Amino acid sequence: MGRSNVGKSSLINALVRQRVARTSGAPGKTRLANVYLVTRGAAAPFYLLDLPGYGYARAPRRSGRVAVETGGAASPEDARRASQAEFEAIVRVVFERRPAGLLLVDARHPGLASDRAAWQWVGASAERAAVIATKIDKLGRGERIRALRELESVFETSVLPVSAVTGEGLDQLWKLIDQLKTSG
Ligand code: GDP
Repeated sequence: MGRSNVGKSSLINALVRQRVARTSGAPGKTRLANVYLVTRGAAAPFYLLDLPGYGYARAPRRSGRVAVETGGAASPEDARRASQAEFEAIVRVVFERRPAGLLLVDARHPGLASDRAAWQWVGASAERAAVIATKIDKLGRGERIRALRELESVFETSVLPVSAVTGEGLDQLWKLIDQLKTSG
């Protein structure tokens, strides 16, 4: 899970080396909560839930799946409230199942209020959770050290830097996913 535009679809595609998740050029357009069954080598298969990005969008419900789209609300404020309520409803249902959680945050924007709120959700409900810093390729060496230090202090846990563009961190992310799957 993560904010709209954090790079979640790109990361999923990079991880599985296929275009399964649709990347969003413009944030806030129609977006589904996707479920993938991931089978990888001899490892046990698992379900990967790609939750709608928070920060935009509202979510009317459609036959069995959750569609999230903008527009149709009386005002931007209504849309924001509806979006938040729908997002929390989805998160509640998902986390009742006690899954492992990965929170994606943009390496360039450490400590956003919405990300901190999301971490409380994940931390409050998920047995096992980790924070991933996306788009790390966009930072120079000094910036990168500063950003990771700040992220680790905000979230009080180690943060794994990744890039869907260069592939950095993807092997470590698979290892982390394997650990989260089997612990707890
Ligand atoms: P989502 O809304 O979280 O699914 O985000 P997307 O995967 O659609 O990515 C949003 C934007 O960030 C797109 O323009 C991507 O090309 C860009 N992006 C995503 N991941 C990376 C990354 O690792 N590095 C860089 N430089 N850009 C990225």
